[in-house]
Amino acid sequence: MSLIRFENVSHYYNETQALKGLTFEIDNRKITAIAGKSGSGKSTLLQIINGLIRPSSGSAIVFGSMLDYRKINETRLKIGYSVQGTGLFPHMTVYENISLLGRITGQLKHVTEMRVDFLMSLVNLTPLFKTKYPYQLSGGEQQRVGLCRAMLLNPPVFLLDEAFGALDPETRNEIHAELLNMQKLEPRTIVLVTHDLKEALKLSDNLMLLNEGEIMQYAPKEKILSEPANEFVRNFTTI
Ligand code: ADP
Repeated sequence: MSLIRFENVSHYYNETQALKGLTFEIDNRKITAIAGKSGSGKSTLLQIINGLIRPSSGSAIVFGSMLDYRKINETRLKIGYSVQGTGLFPHMTVYENISLLGRITGQLKHVTEMRVDFLMSLVNLTPLFKTKYPYQLSGGEQQRVGLCRAMLLNPPVFLLDEAFGALDPETRNEIHAELLNMQKLEPRTIVLVTHDLKEALKLSDNLMLLNEGEIMQYAPKEKILSEPANEFVRNFTTI
């Protein structure tokens, strides 16, 4: 069973149709990149998966059943979400930020502590960072803390919305490597949104190209790369 499935999902913002009857499923424990120009509907699609946006019509089936918006907070505990800018709480230390969901869900303190140490080591943050505040960190370090926070409860699904967009190329490469390493150690169903073809090709197992709210192409990356003359790849050069 696929953890994420859309059936004929459309979404309107007033007159604007952001998504046009999308039907697809996402492979479990793989990285799926959703790529497309700005305004193609990528963020809308992602926010429908975690219930931040309720589709105008159609069904978003997550963890095997239609999203129940009355229990959406419960569902969101199983969905990591990382956006550009990280959304860290400025008045909390790195440790308090990462461990937040542990406190909220009543996780045993030593379990949380071990998990925080493990996650920080995966993204190459030394324990010295634990007592720092977000303003004392570089953009890359903040993004790493954001990743750790999203991974605290080991969610089976992880959504990333242009999460690495604001980073310099070197830092972005380092975090890409850390994410891929994390995926090897703890495989999860990752959906990442990007307008950067290189990033999409580098990180993903499967690629979906969106254009004006429609799926232009959706296929395993290997298949796409084996067809260099594919229109999908040519289209990408304009993104
Ligand atoms: P992307 O993530 O690919 O940039 P979005 O999902 O953000 O695309 O947007 C898809 C379309 O919906 C665009 O035309 C955008 O202008 C419109 N849109 C997105 N959010 C809103 C909103 N809150 N109100 C009105 N229109 C919106």
